[in-house]
Amino acid sequence: NEDQFKKVISHAKEYGYVFQSSEIYDGLSAVYDYAQNGVELKKNIRDYWWKAMVQMHDNIVGIDAAIFMHPTTWKASGHVDAFSDPLIDNKDSKKRYRADVLVEDYCAKIEAKIEKEVKKAEKRFGEAFNKEEFLSTNGRVLGYQEKIDTILKRLGQSLEKEDLADVKALIEELGIACPVAGSKNWTDVKQFNLMFGTKLGASAESAMDLYLRPETAQGIFVNFLNVQKTGRMKIPFGIAQTGKAFRNEIVARQFIFRMREFEQMEMQFFIKPGTQKEWFDYWKETRLKWHKSLGLGEDNYRFHDHEKLAHYADAATDIEFKFPFGFKELEGIHSRTDFDLKQHEEFSGKKLQYFDHEDKESYTPYVLETSIGLDRMFLAVFSNALVEEELENNTTRTVLKLPAVLAPTKAAILPLVKKDGLPEVAKKIVEDLKWDFNVTYDEKDAVGRRYRRQDANGTPFCITVDHDTLEDNSVTIRHRDTMEQRRVKIEDLKDIIKAEVDV
Ligand code: ATP
Repeated sequence: NEDQFKKVISHAKEYGYVFQSSEIYDGLSAVYDYAQNGVELKKNIRDYWWKAMVQMHDNIVGIDAAIFMHPTTWKASGHVDAFSDPLIDNKDSKKRYRADVLVEDYCAKIEAKIEKEVKKAEKRFGEAFNKEEFLSTNGRVLGYQEKIDTILKRLGQSLEKEDLADVKALIEELGIACPVAGSKNWTDVKQFNLMFGTKLGASAESAMDLYLRPETAQGIFVNFLNVQKTGRMKIPFGIAQTGKAFRNEIVARQFIFRMREFEQMEMQFFIKPGTQKEWFDYWKETRLKWHKSLGLGEDNYRFHDHEKLAHYADAATDIEFKFPFGFKELEGIHSRTDFDLKQHEEFSGKKLQYFDHEDKESYTPYVLETSIGLDRMFLAVFSNALVEEELENNTTRTVLKLPAVLAPTKAAILPLVKKDGLPEVAKKIVEDLKWDFNVTYDEKDAVGRRYRRQDANGTPFCITVDHDTLEDNSVTIRHRDTMEQRRVKIEDLKDIIKAEVDV
């Protein structure tokens, strides 16, 4: 829903979550900066992931590999040859598109039309409406459905090189012309490599061509044996990593959903060949549970199992989330076989094998990967949290209902008035709480306005110090979501907050 998405983007800016990069120079497309609140939310998401993956698993350890890697890495991984997206130019508008996204958009538009027909019919028929029957008998809907089926049948689940001629034909035939209505003037579809190149070295002759890493995974693969040996790791075990990745995305859109510089949270789990099916199922379930533990709504997730697989995978699924613009990939779970380690063995000439003491044999482990975009997770959490509520007195309030564990600021301490010693008591509470939580002090404006400001900021608790506090050492604690207020002892504040924000 476009309006909701616009609100998300402007709220993110207005409340210090996300700014456009280099804004004073009119920005840089698909590059963003995290602001004072955004950096905290992002850190909290990263920590929540790290805790679940590394701290809670005694057989998973972390690393932090460099962004620069030896250039041969990317030959071995297949990125130099195959990490590209299909690109098509419109000669009329001189605009460039990702051919697969164009087709995807087209499908989404048709789906929206079907949904509209369903809603109309539902209104008309009321209780007697039967959706299944309507979908299978209504001529117009069937026509739309046929178009989608044609596309899916022709293209399968993803676009491969050999499909490119097909894609162009399809784009022309169906007049997939968003946003150049009716245009049939397209170039052929070309493959465009997404890696950013750069140079290492001072002089032109000695400089070495490098890439900014397009994924964090390869830093884990090349360190597999180092970690296994020095950490005395026994298979099955995992290596986790969070860090920046860079992709020269052809079409930058949807805010921080698709960026050119972004952060990944990846874990490669090394397993015995033959056990990949069971670990694939295990990590599918485990990762979905992690998502659901945040309480963003169980219906907002679904799996999308891949039918067409990447060259390195023998099974793959996406965990999709319902973003304001529809269900889209949030995390990928891939059964990567021994592809990566074998490739690195071949290109480096070094063995990357594991000796299994129990079975007394050496083998190249298989890999099960979970890979999630931190920025995408940020967008999922943030867009899901932003709500406008109608209140009983016919006013509305804007609340950012972030999970308490992720909220940038856990509590705001507010003196009711700026005099009579109340600020001093409030500041003392800040001093005591800040050892455990990120808290803030606010004395500006009427207390009602301050509550609203904290609601919009996503702060789960407001703690108000009033004149009675001076007598009874108690304060009013207000809960963001319920707006419920209760009187509690200052000395109990820490435990009350802890109970909500700790996992
Ligand atoms: P997409 O199909 O959306 O381009 P992908 O399948 O190429 O994504 P992977 O290579 O599997 O993505 O990367 C793992 C995760 O990294 C994705 O699930 C996504 O959350 C995140 N990610 C990938 N590309 C971007 C990007 N350009 N901006 C932000 N996050 C990204």
